[in-house]
This record gives sequence, structure tokens and C-alpha cells, in this order.
Amino acid sequence: MGLSGRRRTKNGVCRPERSITEGHGYYMIVGIDLGTTNSLVAYYTEDGPKIIPNRLGKNLTPSVVSVDGEGNVYIGETAKERMSLYPDSVAHTFKRSMGTEREYVLSGRHFKPEELSSMVLRSLKEDAEIFLGEPVTEAVISVPAYFDDKRRKATKRAGELAGLKVERMISEPTAAAVAYGLYDKTLDTRFLVFDLGGGTFDVSILELYHNILEVRAVAGDNYLGGEDFTQVMQKLFLQKAKLQISSLSEKEQVRLYRQAEKAKRAVNDADRVTMSFLYKESTIEQQITYREYEEACEELLMKIREPVKKSLADAKLRLSDIDEVLLIGGATRLSVVRDFLIRLFRKFPDTKLNPDETVALGAAVQAAMKERREEVKEVILTDVCSFTLGTEVVVEYEEGRFEDGRFCPIIERNTVIPASHTERLYTVRDNQEKMRVRVLQGESRFARNNLFLGELNIEVPKGPKGQEAIDVTYTYDINSLLEVEVKAVSTGESRKMIIKGEENQMSDEEIKKRMEELAYLKVQPRDYEENKLVLLRAERLYEEALGDRRKKLDYYITAFESALKRGDHDDIMDTRNALNDIMEAEED
Ligand code: ADP
Ligand code: MG
Repeated sequence: MGLSGRRRTKNGVCRPERSITEGHGYYMIVGIDLGTTNSLVAYYTEDGPKIIPNRLGKNLTPSVVSVDGEGNVYIGETAKERMSLYPDSVAHTFKRSMGTEREYVLSGRHFKPEELSSMVLRSLKEDAEIFLGEPVTEAVISVPAYFDDKRRKATKRAGELAGLKVERMISEPTAAAVAYGLYDKTLDTRFLVFDLGGGTFDVSILELYHNILEVRAVAGDNYLGGEDFTQVMQKLFLQKAKLQISSLSEKEQVRLYRQAEKAKRAVNDADRVTMSFLYKESTIEQQITYREYEEACEELLMKIREPVKKSLADAKLRLSDIDEVLLIGGATRLSVVRDFLIRLFRKFPDTKLNPDETVALGAAVQAAMKERREEVKEVILTDVCSFTLGTEVVVEYEEGRFEDGRFCPIIERNTVIPASHTERLYTVRDNQEKMRVRVLQGESRFARNNLFLGELNIEVPKGPKGQEAIDVTYTYDINSLLEVEVKAVSTGESRKMIIKGEENQMSDEEIKKRMEELAYLKVQPRDYEENKLVLLRAERLYEEALGDRRKKLDYYITAFESALKRGDHDDIMDTRNALNDIMEAEED
């Protein structure tokens, strides 16, 4: 029988200086940043990566989905606009629940986080196809560095449900470093990527070492982001206006929040801002100074410190060891955050790219690398392995006493990949002729509880037990390819196999079935998107306005609606522009 025993030997880690890439695809592969708050799609051009604008001409598509009672689907800005009008039909920040069983109910219909994500992806895919004038069937999607296997798989499924092949994912901080071209540095460099998004905060320490870009540590706060800074602005306003949030209707609350968001952005380049709010038919105005706002944000800013410290400690580095600091995420545009960070890092962070676009640009570079475009130098990007890979062994727990069926980890969970580890295993019986290596994945101490991936057998010369040995080497890379090599130590004979980590995926039929199930949803023709958005916005403003303002709005809305009914293009454009102008004035 081919059992193998384990002795306490563990060889060092060696990293293979190569990466396995697939052949050249015919169609362009796009890069997608599927964010908690906003999502973007980018592609690679001769002049480097570029963001693809969405159907409304905007680079950012809010990661918001709405489904109405008739099964019409709204995505992005339009869905966000429906939030105050039809709150029960809207879902947002679902990325936080990726990979969980949580269900969202939109107008009575149930959706999983990956299904909502797939709708956002589909919308981005369509925008890219129109923009590029060719089908887009494959994407590199970025995920947070701490996303485990389950969440990554859910992200991949979201891609598949949207009709996108997702063979490669890139961690967000790595994408940022790639976008900044930092992988091109000749010297070894260490950098800190500071990502403050809408509702999440991530700090990552990356190291570039001999052409390998490695995530060394990640830390963060899953409940801290730009939205909290909006809340602070809102609270300041309420305090000054001597108002209680509980005295406001749901719609008023949504409206107040929108005003607070505006004020938050305005205070970036001003000493003071005036925030106004329509409350019970009268407009309340309050002045808020930068100093006041900064002081009120103190508590949030303090929360930023901890993860920075923790990531440095985990990477065993000091702040002075960091060569570059990259700021990404829309909330790093906040002056209060920037000022705080300059004090914290004692240096001016690199911000030559738009912080909310950096990750998507990096994903597009990675897509070009996958296509093996000549313009991009291929670098080895690392990631972490989200599960343990090992083999079944017999353990000698006492002289002469064995226990079989035990699991021996070879590449442990959270190991930085690509990685290659070797374990030496010994014969457990006299005159044993064959050794069997069962390749397993999982975290249980017992082999039977882990997932069986494959098996290799090798012959060894007969001899007393424990004399013959084999070296088992597992090499795992970012494309989820596991190479297993087994080598008999005394004879030098070896066997190899490659296992592609595709298990746990939805089968093609399952995907097709769910796609059909989702097909009842009516995605609106994209040409109507702008019209729909204008009407929704008008509907909201109409509800907010009173008297003459309301009458004026009504007049322009009616003109636009009848133009839409007549279907005359020029007429539609004229009345829409007129309505838009009125609305701009209203919002200010
Ligand atoms: P995510 O990564 O979560 O999808 P983003 O990186 O798009 O999010 O960041 C969204 C956040 O950035 C929001 O809270 C938004 O208010 C904030 N933000 C965007 N632009 C600005 C700005 N000019 N000033 C202040 N905050 C901003
Ligand atoms: Mg982000």
C-alpha cells in the first residue's frame, strides 16, 4: 500500500520567477473595479489605461440596483435617484455581503449579492461594448485584498451571470500600484496603499522585490468611509439648526443627506460653506467652517490611525521604511483627510491619478498583461491563497504507533502566492514499494473532511521503514493552477501533475438557468437612460418644491413628457435641456 509518513521537516519557501498566462484572446479584455459605492470599467490603449464612460457620460457608475414592481431594472445613477422616491425597490453596498447567503428584497423579488453585482457588471459590459464597438466577453475584476475564496468565487459568479469570463482577479491595492506603474521600479520598493472609499477603509503594505509585487499586510475597517464624513456634516448642520433627525420624514432625511454630501465636497476648497435645507416649507441655512468640520471629524480621523499602525506592525515595518504612499478611494479627496494624512505620514502622498479611478486603471493594465500586450511589461503579481493545500499522511504520534488519515498542510491558507513549498515524506512500512500522494484542499486535521483534488503514485526502492523518502512540492500561482511534483529522493525519479482550481463553481447549466431566471427582468434600452434619469430627478424636485417653483417645474416636465410621447428627437433634446437647466438652478 502506498502510505506515506511525515517527519518534522519543512523546506524553505522558494518563489518561481515566472507566471503562467493564457493565450491571446481575440476580443479585448476590460478591467473592472466593482466597488462598494461606485464601479468603473477601463480598457488598455496605446497611451495606457483609460476609463470608459457610462451611458450617461460619467466615469463612475454607482453600485446601486433598483427593481420596480413590473420587473424593470435600474442601475447606477438612476437607481440611486429612486432611493428617496421608492426606498423599498433599491439595494446598495451589497458588496459587503458578497459570498454570504444574505438576500435583498426589491419590490418583493429576492436577490443574492452576486446577482445584484452581476446587474452592475452587465451594465458596465454594455457600456464598454458600445464604446469599443465590439463584444466584451472577458474581464479582470478587482477585489479587496482581504476577500477570501468564498467572496472571490461569488465575484467570479457575478461576472459569469453578466456574461463575462473572469479568469483573473486582482487585489485592489495591487491594481493601484500597477496603475501608478510602480512595478516598473528597478529598486526594491515598499509602499502603503491607503484606500478610503464610500463605506470601507483598507490599508495595504506592498513590497516590490525582484520583479515580484507582493501584498505584505492588509488591515482596515469595513465600516468606515466617505459616508461617515457626510454623516458628520449632517450632524453639524442639525446641531446648528437645532433640529432632530427623528423629526424629519424619510424623504426629508434623504434630501438632507444629499445636501450634506454637497457641503462635504464644497468645504474641500473653501474656508466655509453654506448648507441649505428645505424643511416644512421653509429653507434653513447654516454656515459651516472648515475648522468646525475638521474638529467634528476628529473621531473619524483617529479611527484611521489604528489600521495604519496594524498593517505596519504585521509587515514588521516602520513608517520610515515606506517609500511611497498611494491615496485611493474617493474619500481621500477630502481635504480634512489629506491634511491629516500629511501629518500622519510626514510626506506628501502620490496623487497624480484620480483616486476613484486608480483601481480600474490598474485592472485594465492587468487585463493587457493577460492579453500579453507588448506595451506592458509582465510582472508577477502576488495574491494570497485563501485555503490550505496539503496531502494525506500517516502520523507517528509515538514510537511505533501510527494514525492514518491525517492531513498534512503543504501550502497554508493566506500564504502569498505564487508560492512553492516542499515537504519530505517517509515510508511507514518495511519494504514499502509505492508511495501515494493524495492532493487535498481544506482546513480539517482529517484528510476525509477535506476536498480531494487528485492523486499521484510513485515507486520507491524496498527497505526498512523510514529509510526511503519522497519530496512533495506544491506550486500554486495566481491563476489557481496547482502543480504537484513528487520526487523519490534516492532514485531521483519524479512525477508531475497540474490541477486547475475550478471546483465549487457554478456549472454552466446552473449559470444558464439563473440567467434565464433573471431574464424576466426588463433592462431598459440604454438610449432611454438619460431621459429616465431626468424624469426621476424632476419627480423628486417636484416633490420638494412649492408654489411658483413647483409650477415652473411642472411646466417644463410636461413639455418634456409630451416631446417624449411625440418621439421627435430634436424636440426631446430641446425640452430635456431646458428642464435640466431649471433643475440645475433648483438644486443650487
Ligand atoms: P468605493 O471604493 O467604496 O466604491 P469610491 O472610491 O468611489 O468608493 O468613494 C466614494 C466616496 O468618495 C463617497 O463617500 C464620496 O462622498 C467620496 N467622494 C468622492 N468625491 C469626493 C470629493 N470631491 N470630496 C469628498 N469626498 C468625495
Ligand atoms: Mg474602491
